[in-house]
Amino acid sequence: MTREKPKNNYASFRKVKSREDFFSDWVEENLKQMKKSDKDKLYHNYTVKCKVFQRDGFKCQNTECKWPDSPLTFHHIKFQRNNGGWTERNGVTVCNTCHQAFHRCKRGLVFADTGYLPAHIRGHTFRETRDKKKDMKKLLVEMKALRKKLKYELKDTNDNIRLEYVVILLKWLEEDWDY
Ligand SMILES: [Zn+2]
Ligand SMILES: [Zn+2]
Repeated sequence: MTREKPKNNYASFRKVKSREDFFSDWVEENLKQMKKSDKDKLYHNYTVKCKVFQRDGFKCQNTECKWPDSPLTFHHIKFQRNNGGWTERNGVTVCNTCHQAFHRCKRGLVFADTGYLPAHIRGHTFRETRDKKKDMKKLLVEMKALRKKLKYELKDTNDNIRLEYVVILLKWLEEDWDY
């Protein structure tokens, strides 16, 4: 008997959770440390992600995608570091494989000319052109600084890492390419 890995059907994105529901499985302690504005942001981003995934039919929108099982991610057309926002217009669903290849400048993102995509995405090809070397250097510097901070934190607080660092790490893991 073979056991199939359960397929992620993105249930939590198919039906938008209420704010209360969204935070209900968070650790109480972490929630308490969080500013209201950060919570607002997190919940807002979640709702935008729901709408974009739904609009895109829970499928990678890169027409050259060959990885139907790769997990879905949210790509910002205008990068967050260039003030690209969490809006439906600025978001598109791409799988993790296409997403990473794009941000590592290995492959482009080719979008179909379909009506549901925003006009500035529809039928367009995007390519990452930034200098990879320079960016890696920046990332390494950031990592080093974070490691130093974490070391101090761990010393001071009995192995409790402050939530803001957890958020930064999670951001890198999940959204790292659009920072
Ligand atoms: Zn893909
Ligand atoms: Zn991206």
